[in-house]
Parts: sequence; C-alpha cells; structure tokens
Amino acid sequence: MVYTHFLEFSTRGHTDIHDITQGVQEAVAGSGIRQGLATVFAPSSTSAITTIEYEGGALDDLRRALDELAPPDADYRHNLRWGDGNGHAHLRSALVKPSFSIPIVEGQLTLGTWQQIVFLDFDVRARRRRLIVQIVGEADREELR
Ligand code: ZN
Repeated sequence: MVYTHFLEFSTRGHTDIHDITQGVQEAVAGSGIRQGLATVFAPSSTSAITTIEYEGGALDDLRRALDELAPPDADYRHNLRWGDGNGHAHLRSALVKPSFSIPIVEGQLTLGTWQQIVFLDFDVRARRRRLIVQIVGEADREELR
C-alpha cells in the first residue's frame, strides 16, 4: 500500500528551520499504515530535510555549522553564472539532502524522544513550500501472516 500526503507552508528563507514532525505523524495516522516506511521529500534545490533536537541552542549550532561550511558571502560559481545569490543554498541542500525516511512500527514513527524532523529553507527569499510525505507499507500486520 502506498499513501501520499502533502505538507504546505510558508518560509522566510535564510536557513529558516521548521519542525514538521507533527505533520508527518498526522500523515502516518491518516494513512492507516501500521508497518512500513515514511519518506519526506522536498522537491527543491535550495532546501533540505534532516533531524535534530528542536530547541534553540541546537538550532543555532546547526545554523552556525552551516554558515562555516557554506558561508552566504563566499564566492560561488553558481552566483557568477546566474546572479541569484543563492549558491550557498544550493550547496547546503546538496550536503544536508532533500529527503529523510523513518521506519513505522505499530502505526508510529520510530523517532527518538528528542529527535524531531526538520525542514530547512536555505534560499535568500521567502517561499511557499510543498513537501511530499510518502508512506509505503502494510495497513494491518495480520495480513502478513
Ligand atoms: Zn540559484
């Protein structure tokens, strides 16, 4: 069984971080799938999805690490070619990756207590984003026996 759900929201860009855990949990509940895998995917080259404890200190640490890895004001060939000033956003997206998968057991995401799913928008302007949550699995374990 395959169930597809979409999460839509507005972002401010500049490494704007959103906790999307609840939206993914609601998609899993709505799917009725009890055993399987949930994948969240961002169809974008300037954003990413990962996991972190969603608290201010950890989020600041993540932003700082990304600033060191791919500073917004560094020289990027992408910016020279296109002039859109978001070379660092493309690089961050490529490194953090645009998708994330979580096993589902007994109808629940198997996340750790302090392990939230986060969407990061690295672009240099506010955007409307639409993420795909696709859940693949079995609705009822009994059917497997
Ligand atoms: Zn660009």
